[in-house]
Amino acid sequence: MATQITTGTSELRDITKMERIGAHSHIRGLGLDDRLEPRSNSQGMVGQGKARKAAGMILKMVQEGRIAGRAMLFAGPPSTGKTAIALGMAQTLGPDVPFTMIAASEVFSLSMSKTEALTQAFRRSIGVRIKEETEIIEGEVVEMQIDRSLTGATKTGKLTIKTTDMETIYDLGTKMIDALAKEKVTAGDVISIDKTSGKVSKLGRSFARSRDYDAMGADTKFVQCPEGEIQKRREVVHTVSLHEIDVINSRTQGFLALFAGDTGEIKPELRSQINSKVAEWREEGKAEIIPGVLFIDEVHMLDIECFSFLNRALENDLAPLVIMASNRGMARIRGTKFRSPHGLPVDLLDRVLIVSTSAYSADEIQEIVRIRCDEEDVSLAPDALEVLVKMAQETTLRYALNVISTAHMLARKRKVDKVEIEDLRRSYSYFMDEKRSVQWLKEQQGSLVFEEIGAERDGDVMDQS
Ligand code: ATP
Repeated sequence: MATQITTGTSELRDITKMERIGAHSHIRGLGLDDRLEPRSNSQGMVGQGKARKAAGMILKMVQEGRIAGRAMLFAGPPSTGKTAIALGMAQTLGPDVPFTMIAASEVFSLSMSKTEALTQAFRRSIGVRIKEETEIIEGEVVEMQIDRSLTGATKTGKLTIKTTDMETIYDLGTKMIDALAKEKVTAGDVISIDKTSGKVSKLGRSFARSRDYDAMGADTKFVQCPEGEIQKRREVVHTVSLHEIDVINSRTQGFLALFAGDTGEIKPELRSQINSKVAEWREEGKAEIIPGVLFIDEVHMLDIECFSFLNRALENDLAPLVIMASNRGMARIRGTKFRSPHGLPVDLLDRVLIVSTSAYSADEIQEIVRIRCDEEDVSLAPDALEVLVKMAQETTLRYALNVISTAHMLARKRKVDKVEIEDLRRSYSYFMDEKRSVQWLKEQQGSLVFEEIGAERDGDVMDQS
């Protein structure tokens, strides 16, 4: 069966990336210098120097295309920056290198199998950089006839363009008429029309005469066509992921599924056709593979089947760098009766570079709290800052960071600008941290609907101390 594989790049070009907001919005990179040494407070990052440096080294290898099909594990207690560092890596990689982030529990869904969900995550993390030539006609407008008696979508017309030594006549549709109107094109103007996108640009009347082509940049080349017409061809480069190519070419889905996010299962035959097409494009020099990064948070939530899939998938030619994070110590491997470090089977652990994160010092917590206050536009009274740092040490950093927003709301209710100890205290009494919530549960024993199952422990969260 002859299948035409399309990249759908013209549709995808318009999808703009959404800004991340929320708990990690202050993270803008790894905060390393040129020698990959961690700066003490840079790009929103504080402390955790060793882990940041290790992440920077791995990134360098990704950027040089020297690492793919490898895995790395961030292991450390809760709120020690594992996710923050992974996001810092994503920011450093830039928009052209795919970075996919999933929580392991997302793999379990009714709409697709676990292995399909993981395959999609893998393929989302592999970019294909495609070079495409677009044809541009350039010339002087000799005459424009537009039938303005008709309205809306039915506007039609003709445009006569004189190129070097011949005239080209275009039948115009509404889109082109609108583009001409937007550029205020009239007879005598020199314009260029991108035949792929329909984009019209006015070049200025002297352009054609001076033939100042160099000013157009290195990605534009000129070809002499048989008819003597001069056309410019521009090489446009865009990056799509293998998963996007899969979805666009999937008969049952179509590219709109990319917007809905509900892509369903994709047939393995289609994937192998796409793989061979992409290999062909690579050989012809039309495409380049960009191995990206797949981040799997809470990786201990995967089960033994997923782990065995991961082991195999990492061997594939088209595998990204897989970064995992876990806050578990010794934990049960899901789907088995065995316990192992971080809940990962030993054969997987064996191939993983493990980077540990540890609890922050009071000074580091203070810096992080300051950064978050700036990010959320909250001003803290000096003694309140001290209390918040204590709170973070006794509960978790994440709890203290959450208290910033709730205490700020309470301060605003009191109609004051600065958050004071009183607001922190009230917020602390309204919202429990994990330790107090466990204590409360113990006190409530018997009165809640669910009870403990028995003695079997599923996995211990690593200790902050
Ligand atoms: P968990 O194991 O519970 O998932 P985690 O180790 O992934 O925790 P994060 O979510 O990265 O922890 O950190 C908690 C909060 O602290 C986040 O808001 C994060 O942005 C911030 N944070 C953590 N480490 C740093 C750091 N080194 N510099 C600045 N902000 C940090």
